[in-house]
Formats: sequence, structure tokens, C-alpha cells
Amino acid sequence: MKNEHVSAGGFRHNGQGLSPRPASTRGQKASALWMLVLALATGWSLPAGADEAVPADTAPRWWKGNLHTHTLWSDGDDFPEMVAEWYRTRGYHFLALSDHNVLAVGNRWMAEQTVRKRGGDEVVDKYLARFGPAWVERRGEGEKAAIRLKPLAEFRCLVEERGRFLMIPAEEISDRAAGKPIHTNASNIVEPIQPVGGRTVVEAIQGNLRAVRDQAERAGQEIVAHLNHPNFGYAVTPADLAQATLEQHFEVFNGHPAVNQRGDDEHPSVEMFWDIANTIRLDELHAAPLFGIATDDSHDYHSHPGEPKASRPGRGWVLVRATHLTPEHIVRALKQGDFYASSGVAVREVAFDESARALRLEIEPAGDATYTTRFIASFAATDDQPARIGVEVATATGLTASYRLTGEELYVRARVTSSEPPHDPCWEGQRAEAWTQPVGWRAGVAGRQ
Ligand SMILES: [Zn+2]
Ligand SMILES: [Zn+2]
Repeated sequence: MKNEHVSAGGFRHNGQGLSPRPASTRGQKASALWMLVLALATGWSLPAGADEAVPADTAPRWWKGNLHTHTLWSDGDDFPEMVAEWYRTRGYHFLALSDHNVLAVGNRWMAEQTVRKRGGDEVVDKYLARFGPAWVERRGEGEKAAIRLKPLAEFRCLVEERGRFLMIPAEEISDRAAGKPIHTNASNIVEPIQPVGGRTVVEAIQGNLRAVRDQAERAGQEIVAHLNHPNFGYAVTPADLAQATLEQHFEVFNGHPAVNQRGDDEHPSVEMFWDIANTIRLDELHAAPLFGIATDDSHDYHSHPGEPKASRPGRGWVLVRATHLTPEHIVRALKQGDFYASSGVAVREVAFDESARALRLEIEPAGDATYTTRFIASFAATDDQPARIGVEVATATGLTASYRLTGEELYVRARVTSSEPPHDPCWEGQRAEAWTQPVGWRAGVAGRQ
């Protein structure tokens, strides 16, 4: 709220909230009467700008969020409201806490010993310092001392802000198939989804996605799922993910240092994985391509940049274009591919002009960084040669870049690379990047399956 608009009503902004202003009763009555007259005369209900977090003439804008996060509810090392606070105070607009096979609901106590073992000796003190003894619930003494993990329904009121910060209920459905970890995030769920398993990787992926779809239908609620870290344990192959056509999203970037983001001698990088899977889908299956999400998969909130192997917050996120900061608007935009993934580069505009068949980007500058945009495409197999996958078809430097499709491409996408590293790199030599979604493919696909 802005001070000048509310002061007429007898309140002033003190920097922390609204507090009564000493004013004469007569003055208050006069100003209240004046406001009523004005309201009746103009049909006006709120002073313009006083409620700018949710304007009526909403235009689409970018909302920053992380869809993959852990807390003490599973194997993270901090309290859920402390984790939410980390993101809220760093410019994020939405957050999905996605603990393994659990939703933060009901009454759950954890031994303080366990909490300290996870988060270090100061973890409880930090929690107390932030939210105070009236909020933190403890019971028992000595070895029996326990602390309550608050459910989302109780703590979301503490961190959410209309039009500014939103919590989205989520879970990491953590399954195994053929001895391999198959993890799928489901965002905006109403109740936990138990992993369904399967004889093969594809069966498990599809089975869990059917469970997500069933819940969405039962609840009448939009839920979005995405496959996590395909190279973790090299569990999923590009062919698996291509065939699991219920899957529409996957993690093109995951900030956990143990997920083999760059592949190895025998496995493609996750980015090349994306191009292989999408080429199989478009060239052979005539199925829609996968959209790429970036996430933190954060577990460790008490280590610092430079300390190796921790999965810290703030490394991967999505920017979603929507008119409103509500779970449904965020989920719908994700489903439509109206978002990009980032590990540190901000894009001001990304637009695909269907009639001109052109993909155009405008990059948000940051400090002295310079930017290189690579346009990457795949091409169908012909009688003479196999499919060409993940080919760099054009490169541009500077803050704007565009590419006009020739008509030969199965799709094109863009990756922007900064000259600068991200603030907390996952590996030596990492550069901040952004990934836009594949475009130019819709004509070849009958519809999403
Ligand atoms: Zn996982
Ligand atoms: Zn995870």
C-alpha cells in the first residue's frame, strides 16, 4: 500500500504495518464522509494504486519460482517456514516444497537430536531467532526433547503475501523401477500420491503420471508434474522419456551437485538428453516435446558457497508468464510452455511469432556480463541420413537475438549463456544460463497426449 492513499483514512505507514494516527474524531468523520461521497459518485472502490499487488487490468508478467525443494519433512535440513522465508526474502514469487512421498500435513514431531544432527547445533536457535518462542513448539527435556514440524496449512499464513509470494503444495513422488530411482514432482496437489512402481522405467513414469492425472480429475484442480534429474543414477534414458508421453515436463537443470548434469563419456548431458528425447517424440512418435524446468532440489540450508557437494538453494528456477500469482495460473502457464528455465540469466522477453516463424529474445542485462545466445534445433531423419539432433543453427551476442525458422527444423529453442558464473556454481567453470522452450513444432503434432 502507498502511504498517501491510506493516510486519508486515518492511518499512516510506519514501515512495518499500519498503525492508527492520532487525528481528531471530527477530521476522521469528515474524511470518511468525503470518501463515501467520492465512492458513490464515481463507482470507485479503492484508491488507484492502493492495491497494486492485484490490479484489475492485469497484464501478463514474469513470476519467479522454484518447484523442487526439501525440508525436515523429508531429508532437508531446515524447518519448512525457514525454507519458505529464504525464498520469500530473495525475490522469489512462488515456492513448492516437494518432500519425498509426503505432504506437510497433520501433527509431526521430530527429536531435537535428529534436527540438530541434520542442520547443525544452531538450527533450532536460528528458527527461534526468526520466528520466536511463541511460534516454535517444543516438548520434553533432554534426550526426549522434540520439536514440531508445522504443516503447510499452519505456516503458509506467515509467509504468503497476496500478489507477492505464494506457496504451492507439492511432493516428490520418489519411486524405483528396475532398481533405478524414478522421481517425479507433482505441484499443486491436494493429498499425497504414493509411488506406483512398475516393471520398467517407462511403466513407472507413466503410472505415477496417471496417479497425478487421476487426482487432478477427482479434485477438479490443475496439477503439473515433472520428471526430476533424469541423469541421477543414470536412471532414465532419452528413449524412456520420449516414450513416456504423458510426461510433458522435465528438469533440464537441477542444482543438486550429484545429478550428473553434464553427463559422462557414456551418457549425454541433460541438455543433449532433452534434444534426443524431443527428436524421438517429434520425428518418430508425433508427440509433443518436453518442456524444460530448472530447479534447486535444495536440501542444505546451513552450508555456504564454496563448500562442496551441498545442494543449496538459489541455483535453478523458472520464470513463468501469467497474469495472476495463483497456483492455477502458474500451473496453466507451465502446461502451455509459457516460461523459461534459468540458472542465473534473466530474459526480459521471449516471443515466438507463429506467422513469421521467428523466435526472438531480449535479455535483461546484469553488471558487466556479456551474453551469447545459441539457437538449437533438431532435424528429422531422411532417406540419406539419420536425424540430426541438437544442432546449433545460429549464434548471437548482445542483449537481443532472433532466429527465423527455415521450415526444416523439428523445433528450435534457445540457450543464453552469460560470461559470468552464477553466484553459487555447481561445478567449476559453470556459467549462468537460461533455456527457452522448444517452439515451431505444433504443426507436426496432433495434440498433447
Ligand atoms: Zn530426487
Ligand atoms: Zn529432490
